[in-house]
Amino acid sequence: MCMKHFYVGVDVGGTNIKSALVKNGKVLQRAKLPTNGQQGPVPVINQIKKAIRTFSKPIAGIGIGIAGIIDSKKGIVRYSPNLIDWNNIKLAQAIRDEFSIPVHILNDVNAICLGEWKFGAAKGHNSVFLFTLGTGVGGAAVCEGHLLFGANGFAGEFGHSTIKYDGKKCTCGRFGHLEGYVGARFIAARARRMMKQQPSALNKYKKITPHIIAREAKKGDAVSKKVFEQIGFYIGIGVSSIISLFDPGIIVISGGISKAGRILFEPIRKTVAQRLMGAQFRKYKIVPGKLGDDAGILGAVYYASEVS
Ligand SMILES: [Zn+2]
Repeated sequence: MCMKHFYVGVDVGGTNIKSALVKNGKVLQRAKLPTNGQQGPVPVINQIKKAIRTFSKPIAGIGIGIAGIIDSKKGIVRYSPNLIDWNNIKLAQAIRDEFSIPVHILNDVNAICLGEWKFGAAKGHNSVFLFTLGTGVGGAAVCEGHLLFGANGFAGEFGHSTIKYDGKKCTCGRFGHLEGYVGARFIAARARRMMKQQPSALNKYKKITPHIIAREAKKGDAVSKKVFEQIGFYIGIGVSSIISLFDPGIIVISGGISKAGRILFEPIRKTVAQRLMGAQFRKYKIVPGKLGDDAGILGAVYYASEVS
């Protein structure tokens, strides 16, 4: 990474566009604007430009992380699930035309993975798997020092790996995928089902979120604790498959729900230890991310500075 120059990293989310001025792997200044994703590509691209223009320093390059199917080599967003009408949008070129400096784009979870690998929880490791727990379940991998894109740029879709062959319907419409068990709304639905069978401190809340369930689990609520044991179990099954396939030295869990701490990590670690062939002979760690929202920004900047 070229450390001497200023770069701008951008994280295009469904609700907000976050941008930051970065130098030496450090965030110096931040900005946040609404994405306006329902208005179509042009207004969003204008917001991205505005988010970059916030910073007055001369910048050497721009890295943009965005959800969806991203052709990083060509700088094209093939499809983005949170943005209306984003089909084959030449995002890198549109931004390059405005600022006349190198612009690189990549999938948002790939950016988070690069960020945690180079500057955060997975620093110093050569093989890394990272997944995000939130509304959806995303994933990305660094294999032997390289970010894994796959033949179609689809690698790492952990949320849509099968954990139960005759399982529930996932957000993608297929059955038995991990996201259909541990995506935020499925966690809340699980809690609501269990509350019908057993009294719970969760009854006092109008809207139940994973954050609330985690809080009540830590206070000792039996239903909330059971919810986390069960989702930890499902995640553990998925993680044991990932370790079998790729043998990463570290698995990083990122996203809001990963902040739940021990109540989440204990059942994951336990399940992996039980399910993974040769677990006792392997060195692997399962840890939370360190950088929070900055991971995606720093990873996008790293990517931009490396491929420029
Ligand atoms: Zn799915």
